[in-house]
Amino acid sequence: MDKDVKQVWQSCLEIIKDNLAHEHLFKTWFEPIKPLSLNSSVITIQVPSHFFYEYLEEHYLDLLIKTLRREIGQNAQLQYTILVDTSVSDKPISTIIPSSPNKPIKNNKPIHAPLPMPNAAQSNAPNPFAIPGIQKITIPSNLNENFSFDNFVEGECNRLVRSAGLAIAKNPGRTSFNPLFIYSSVGLGKTHIANAIGLETKKNFPNSTVLYISAEQFMQQYTEATINNEVNQFLYFYQMVDVLIIDDIQFFIGKRGTEEIFFNIFNTLHGQRKQIIVTSDRSPADLNLTDRVVSRLKWGLNAELTVPDVKTRKAIIEEMIRRDGIQISEEVIDYIATRINTNLRDLNGALVSLIAHSSFNHKNITISLAKQIIDSLVKAPQTIITIELIQRVVANYFKIDTNQILTNSRKGVISQARQIIMYFSRKLTRNSLATIGAKCGNKDHSTVIHACKMVENHCSIDKKYRTYIDEIEKELTNR
Ligand code: ADP
Ligand code: MG
Repeated sequence: MDKDVKQVWQSCLEIIKDNLAHEHLFKTWFEPIKPLSLNSSVITIQVPSHFFYEYLEEHYLDLLIKTLRREIGQNAQLQYTILVDTSVSDKPISTIIPSSPNKPIKNNKPIHAPLPMPNAAQSNAPNPFAIPGIQKITIPSNLNENFSFDNFVEGECNRLVRSAGLAIAKNPGRTSFNPLFIYSSVGLGKTHIANAIGLETKKNFPNSTVLYISAEQFMQQYTEATINNEVNQFLYFYQMVDVLIIDDIQFFIGKRGTEEIFFNIFNTLHGQRKQIIVTSDRSPADLNLTDRVVSRLKWGLNAELTVPDVKTRKAIIEEMIRRDGIQISEEVIDYIATRINTNLRDLNGALVSLIAHSSFNHKNITISLAKQIIDSLVKAPQTIITIELIQRVVANYFKIDTNQILTNSRKGVISQARQIIMYFSRKLTRNSLATIGAKCGNKDHSTVIHACKMVENHCSIDKKYRTYIDEIEKELTNR
């Protein structure tokens, strides 16, 4: 009897293998199955978990039915027992195969199943994504309740994204905005609106699975999954999502493995008409990802959030202070909205420091306080210190020509200036020794190290020299 079932199952496996798109699907979904018994036309197979059973039923039932009928006969019945899932009884679950006629299967096009799934043999391994067994799967959405449509002020700058977002929330995955690709520079509301769409979808469809995740977190999860040999679980987890929101996808640039897995997930979800929302600090065309990913990101709607006009900025400030329950005069709001025209994060930051100042010092938020605070914030933003800037400042200090520094001149003052430039480039920029050397007359990294040591030594023995260095440093950092 036992031998029979093994033989029958073996023949089934051969047919199944022929009909799967990929070998790995076979390995994942069929190799872990153990044939247990065959009683007249009832075949019992053992699967490693309840999820495994559900997955087979959902994705491969058709294939199984056809195969079993072929090998056992039209009355074939399939029964499962579940091995490790303690949450369910170990009574066999049986599937009675319906007796409607079916098309022959061999030489058919492969029956498609979306992606490699968890290797059931590992289903007991610790799993960061906490794959539940039989219960209705609930994935925490990770959404920020503070970023909703209710407090997202509408303006010309966000009209398209906002209305597309509302349409998506009514009909996720079924509009032409799939994926929705939202891009803008920092602080213009990408994270807010992406969350708002998620929240609104949840409101309209409480049973839907919405997941918000930053691209960085996604990458960390994937890296962990790779290390722990749990990539299948990772994929499985993402396949359960109805609305996937990935924030700041530019983070995937240069991370090929993560990009690849995202590509897989994208294809599966999109193929199942699940909604995908992606944000980025640049347009798809400027996103330095592989062509196939970029082309998919262009499939739906690409929409930019732009800097809001003064009127919208005022409305946003009003919304922000309403959230905080604070009262600020129209005049002050007007002043902030006019002065802070970069982005909404800065706007929020200005407001926060204004409120902090007034409450620390028990002062009312008057226009003069607002002017004082905002003006100090808006004051020239700190210049980023570059090697070129250091070259200009040092050359200027020693009254020499910048070009001379780039020569090989060993003339006292020039080589000394060059050393100081290397020293500050090392101290105040993040350039590598090699880059610093290359930009200071094609020197190698050891020359840079030597220069830095020379400057330090010189400082410790020569007071006047030390003053030069201090003065130059002040000049560089007080910009
Ligand atoms: P990004 O993700 O583009 O960097 P955020 O979504 O973090 O920007 O937005 C920065 C801040 O501005 C947040 O506090 C957000 O709530 C607020 N904000 C952005 N757009 C709006 C808007 N239209 N209405 C109200 N607040 C907004
Ligand atoms: Mg953001």
